[in-house]
Amino acid sequence: MSSIAIDPGHGGKDPGAIGPTGLKEKECALKIALKVGQMLKKHNVKVIYTRTDDSYPSLTQRAELANKAKADYFVSIHLNSSTSPSAHGTETFSFKRGTVGEKLAQKIQSHLVKSIRLANRGVKQENLLVLKKTKMPAALVEVCFISNPKEEALLKSDAFLNKAAEGISRGILAQLSTT
Ligand SMILES: [Zn+2]
Repeated sequence: MSSIAIDPGHGGKDPGAIGPTGLKEKECALKIALKVGQMLKKHNVKVIYTRTDDSYPSLTQRAELANKAKADYFVSIHLNSSTSPSAHGTETFSFKRGTVGEKLAQKIQSHLVKSIRLANRGVKQENLLVLKKTKMPAALVEVCFISNPKEEALLKSDAFLNKAAEGISRGILAQLSTT
């Protein structure tokens, strides 16, 4: 049985980004992450969450939890933010190019964009701590911009959160089907 560590970004003392009407990244990330977990479990995938409530494990703790559980993949779920309110769309990060983590990021990105139909900002590389410290292939998805008024409004809709979770799950399942 494959196992996936799902990491809802931020939590507890760390709200993450905050939208123009006050919506918090930590809450949206948790809702999407729990939905992704439910969908994966239906496909017989073992799910390890780094948090399931409003707590704040440190970035190192999140990576160590996934490493100890020997998860096959690690997926961190975030909402993007910019000082420019017009910034919009979906992007996914991997630690390095040419890795299985990049393949995972590409699959999540393409299925997520198909599902929620926001602008495709592509797959990028960044030296993010959770991607660096996890031993398994890892990706970090920025579903949309909570700082953008239109995209923040979408995040208040359960139907949108479901679509986002479906897209992320399909991407993960597509990656699992290659291994
Ligand atoms: Zn974040």
